[in-house]
Amino acid sequence: MEVKHAVGPYPSRRANGYIAIIDSVGPPKACPYNCVYCPIKGGGAKTTTTIKRLVSPDRVLRSFEQLMDGIGGGVRAVLVNGMGDPLLNEFFSEIVDSLAKVLKKRKLDAELWIKTSLQTHAVASRRLDLANVDRVYVVFDAGSSEDYATINEPHHGLKLSTLINYLKNLNEGGKIVAELSLVSIGELPLNWSRESLELIAISYRKAGVRKAVVRTIDRPPRLSGVRPAPEAALRRAAESLTEQGIEPLLLLEKPQFHYSEVVVPSTTDLYSLLLRRPMTITELRRSFRIPYSDLWGAIESLMNRGIVEEVVWRGKVFYRGITS
Ligand code: SF4
Repeated sequence: MEVKHAVGPYPSRRANGYIAIIDSVGPPKACPYNCVYCPIKGGGAKTTTTIKRLVSPDRVLRSFEQLMDGIGGGVRAVLVNGMGDPLLNEFFSEIVDSLAKVLKKRKLDAELWIKTSLQTHAVASRRLDLANVDRVYVVFDAGSSEDYATINEPHHGLKLSTLINYLKNLNEGGKIVAELSLVSIGELPLNWSRESLELIAISYRKAGVRKAVVRTIDRPPRLSGVRPAPEAALRRAAESLTEQGIEPLLLLEKPQFHYSEVVVPSTTDLYSLLLRRPMTITELRRSFRIPYSDLWGAIESLMNRGIVEEVVWRGKVFYRGITS
């Protein structure tokens, strides 16, 4: 099936509203990391730091214009992050510039965000062009090499210290926000023991990070034993960060409200969204506001074709897109 490179509306905790997601990478997934909590199917994908020509700016732009025609202007942000790290695409700057132009042309009051490991540019000491970007979320889940290796399973030879040094020297005008995902293995902390949290906060300070999102997972991860961290761990992380002079943004609640407009997605739209983010039927209903019966019909047809699967996680049924 055809895959769109702009999907939504998607409920975002950090936006406390809906966002559009731009995927300029896959399928297939391509990332310097293989995080234990990654929600994307394709856990066996090889990690990489090689920047190359992936999805073309034209394809991304066409998808984005189509999405905006379909969903109207109710999104609070456009997030460039799909099946991997957007900085792996040689066309990254062109794509971001084009997206910014479309937002301006349509007079849309939505911020432009990216989410990245930053390691592609850190290992190559490559300059990062952020002129048209409002915010950069940097995946930063560990304060020690051991935790880094365990939680992010980085590409061979990648070091946490490289990321810290790159961030320290980056002149980014306050756009960087570290993103800290705390998770458990079974009931045990993976990266939220007291010691891990202290080391994370110290690493953030060394890297010159001023703001950090603190979150845990809310969709099925690639490893079945991975669980969300308890709320107390998130609050403890926020305290450790505050002690180091870093402003924490705690993400606890998910948007429970409906998107501002009725959106009628095609099966391609629905598949393209579920490929990037597994979602429950309730979330889909809130996003599109179409009757449950229409959603069920579309999901069933995708499941019959073997490109969407049902995943039961923590008592909820999620639908996840898979590549054929
Ligand atoms: S969660 Fe993000 S950074 Fe981690 S492996 Fe998945 S796409 Fe890459």
